[in-house]
Amino acid sequence: MSFENATAQSESTLGSGITISGLSKVFKLGNSSITALEDTTLHSDKGSFLSLLGPSGCGKSTILRILAGLESPTAGSVTVDGMDPSQLRRDHRLGIAFQDSALMPWRSVVANIRLPFELARVSPDESLISDLIKLVGLQGFENAKPAQLSGGMKQRVSIARALVVQPSVLLLDEPFGALDDMTRQRLNLELLRIWTEKPATTLMVTHGISEAIFLSDQVAVMSPRPGRIKEIIQVDLPRPRTPEMMRTPEFHALHDHASDLLFGGNGAAVGDE
Ligand code: ADP
Ligand code: MG
Repeated sequence: MSFENATAQSESTLGSGITISGLSKVFKLGNSSITALEDTTLHSDKGSFLSLLGPSGCGKSTILRILAGLESPTAGSVTVDGMDPSQLRRDHRLGIAFQDSALMPWRSVVANIRLPFELARVSPDESLISDLIKLVGLQGFENAKPAQLSGGMKQRVSIARALVVQPSVLLLDEPFGALDDMTRQRLNLELLRIWTEKPATTLMVTHGISEAIFLSDQVAVMSPRPGRIKEIIQVDLPRPRTPEMMRTPEFHALHDHASDLLFGGNGAAVGDE
């Protein structure tokens, strides 16, 4: 069985894309509790790019972890193409990349990207693996070990590994957050190119306003903890997007609006990017 066939039927009969309804999450810590998320509702169409933008601790990673089936909601529900996270996990339909690339240090690039096939006990699609290595620009490094790669290259491996399952949803948690600004900008362009070639339904967590707008169809701006959606900004900039668009009045208007939502409109937009 291939990764693709597993969900074809569910996708044709149920709602598609990411649906988050009335999601709340309370963490219990001994006698006290932390409300990380409160009544969060969002929808993102299949194949589109959604960013979650918000201050540290507002529950962005919690939403992602619930979508990945790593946490359960206190209230509400999430589905991807009509399926709940446990089903997605079982069918290996999730692609996840975190800030830390989490590669296996003793495995080569190609062996790291092959890993999801081994976990799913599916025979590896070597031609897909080599296509993805090209797509993320790592030809010639197939046999390198993670220690021989730069931070940006490790994140590329991590994204290729997330894409190799041809996921129903690609979850990215500050994938370039640990990298320097120049590398991060370059990798955002790479991510855009990769997403354009393989348009998976993508949810990216970030606290960078510019990158959220540049990459996304929708940017959900969240309030400080307990996290709620303050506003969902529709980004109607045309595609294909180019870095020049970041200098247009339309881009600046969206940036100012997101910044006002995040920092209260007092112009104190410190900490962006
Ligand atoms: P963000 O990704 O937006 O920075 P998180 O989703 O990681 O925020 O966390 C939201 C809030 O929930 C924070 O206050 C964090 O301390 C708390 N939290 C997250 N995970 C846990 C956990 N496993 N146990 C207790 N508290 C948690
Ligand atoms: Mg986080």
